[in-house]
Amino acid sequence: MLISNDLEISEANLSAALGICAGSNPALARRYTELRAAGQPVTQAWLDEHMRGNDDSIAKIADKLDRSLESFASTSRNARDTAAQYSSEMQVHADRAGDEREEIRHLASLAMAMLERTQHLEQEMHRSEREAATLRRSLAKARRDADHDHLTGLPNRRAFEGLLERQYDEAGKTDETLIVAFCDIDNFKRINDIHGHDTGDRVIQAIAGALSKISGDNCHVARHGGEEFVLLFRGLDKAEAVLRLDDVRETFAKRNFINRQSDEPIGQISFSAGVADVFAYPSSREALKAADIALYAAKAQGRNRVVAAE
Ligand code: GH3
Ligand code: MG
Ligand code: MG
Repeated sequence: MLISNDLEISEANLSAALGICAGSNPALARRYTELRAAGQPVTQAWLDEHMRGNDDSIAKIADKLDRSLESFASTSRNARDTAAQYSSEMQVHADRAGDEREEIRHLASLAMAMLERTQHLEQEMHRSEREAATLRRSLAKARRDADHDHLTGLPNRRAFEGLLERQYDEAGKTDETLIVAFCDIDNFKRINDIHGHDTGDRVIQAIAGALSKISGDNCHVARHGGEEFVLLFRGLDKAEAVLRLDDVRETFAKRNFINRQSDEPIGQISFSAGVADVFAYPSSREALKAADIALYAAKAQGRNRVVAAE
């Protein structure tokens, strides 16, 4: 449906297609039937309009689609193998039958016709398998895109929120510490205003790269949005996390940047950060808020510093 209507293979569109084709969204399937009966094509605007308010979890739908594709691919593989086996047996019989009397020649020509159809079916199965494989790749990409920020390649806010939830449960059970930190580039608007948005983008990438250097099994970095990043440290106490982050801040602030397009110096760029101990608050949401307040305290104290929440 998406391919024939030239629609993007995005997660939202795949979930709509699944709702229609597998009947998991009967209301949408009904509207789709009405639309087709009226001879109208499916457009992106139509899908957006009719998918609005549909709060079925995208991940759940993607999983379902993934399972359907897997089962389709294996059915198709089996059918193709059977068809291939059948056609080679038919070929043997058809070759032998060619030498016999009139009736046998007639049977042989029937066999040849069946052979052709079987071979055609085999090719069709091949094509369907290739389409299923393409869909699976698109689905995997749509999933990756949904979790990652394309400018920096870092996980996005949505992915971070999922990670925080999981780590909150795990670290709660194992009694490990969990520290959250927000970072925001200092006076970033000025960089955009003076040097342009593209240069601003490269600065965001540079900070993402610097923060990524401390990421690993026990430290996760994500782009929270705009020129803000969020980090989650596990197994470190608040003072240790502050030190790690302050190291990155200090090294980064010493660098001298140059505008690649105009060769003009940009000068030094810094960021400020606010850090909070997640389990010192009633919920992870409250801890994020505390880190955000600490970040604003860092800005108020003159920027280019890391402040820990009390
Ligand atoms: P402060 O030190 O108080 O943080 O000052 P600031 O100028 O950095 O202020 P603020 O954090 O409010 O500025 C955010 C700016 O970041 C505004 C917006 O135009 C810019 N911005 C947000 N996302 C992007 C992006 O993806 N690329 C670029 N180039 N700019 C962005
Ligand atoms: Mg900001
Ligand atoms: Mg800023």
